Amino acid sequence: MEIKEFIDKKPYVIAGPCSAESEEQILQIAKELKGTADVFRAGVWKPRTHPNSFKGIGKDALKWMQQAQLQTGMKVSTEVATAKHVELCLDAGIDMLWIGARTTVNPFYVQEIAEALKGVDIPVFVKNPIHPEIGLWLGAFERLNKSGVTQIAAIHRGFYSYEKLAFRNDPKWELPIRLREEVRDLSIICDPSHISGNASLIEDVSQTAMDLNMDGLMIETHNKPSKALSDANQQILPIDLENILNNLILRDAKLRDEAFKKELFAYRSQIDFLDTKIIDLLNDRKNIVEDIGHFKNKNKLTIFQIERWFDILKNRKENAKSLGIDEQMIAELFELIHKYSILTQTKIMR
Ligand code: PEP
Ligand code: MN
Repeated sequence: MEIKEFIDKKPYVIAGPCSAESEEQILQIAKELKGTADVFRAGVWKPRTHPNSFKGIGKDALKWMQQAQLQTGMKVSTEVATAKHVELCLDAGIDMLWIGARTTVNPFYVQEIAEALKGVDIPVFVKNPIHPEIGLWLGAFERLNKSGVTQIAAIHRGFYSYEKLAFRNDPKWELPIRLREEVRDLSIICDPSHISGNASLIEDVSQTAMDLNMDGLMIETHNKPSKALSDANQQILPIDLENILNNLILRDAKLRDEAFKKELFAYRSQIDFLDTKIIDLLNDRKNIVEDIGHFKNKNKLTIFQIERWFDILKNRKENAKSLGIDEQMIAELFELIHKYSILTQTKIMR
């Protein structure tokens, strides 16, 4: 993939309201963000779950974006979901575009957008698909790239989850990390607003994104958050954004200091040692699982004994609790270990 870097500072900040609502609102917020944000954002067409929700102003709002661009000198950006949106944005001189989570899931739409961008190499941000998977995210970059779009970056906005979480969208940080491993040069911007769904969590999520060495932040910012026509709970005032950015602790990705490096090396060797021990223990466990498998086989017992499994889970969780380790983590770990124990025994029974 050919990627041209256009993100020139860290953290690169994209801010502005969820939706463009009126010319005054756009110009007011843009003015307040000048000097704080690198790019001004506002949704012109809004992908809403319900048909009667505010669906955005549409193309008339592009004129307000042009005004914001003219009056503040900031770059402006909006979401596109169709070829027509792209065409209207290009005509209006919008500087950067983003593809929303509900669009990244659909290769037909992404292809249509990519084709509408042929020959116009403007920056395009691609939000992760709604569900936790990186294939479609990667596919969108590939489609854009095939059309000659080289200034591309990812936006991590979290993933839909059935579980009731503190977050609106589960961050699943391992997925943007995996994306970075797949496409080394790709910049990743975190969107703490759509991850949090709640203004009070934005600071923490932003800090985590910086700790994970992400390149920037997209944060929804409104002059009257509680009156916003969409995503009212998660929007913050421009001044709050300024404070959050000022409080961020930016850590060095590559530790320059030799003493730090040595200390870190010592910690890492301890981790390597412990991981080796964990693997050794898992091997010992597997050997016993095999013995049990032969025993069950000989005595014509079924592999899966639900009572035993409930006991294991309960006991391991209690154990974790007493040590102050995350119970959920231990439960998930043992589910995985148990799954492979069953597979091991299944092979013996065949
Ligand atoms: C948005 O940025 O306002 C938006 C609709 O985001 P997402 O596509 O991440 O839901
Ligand atoms: Mn929004």
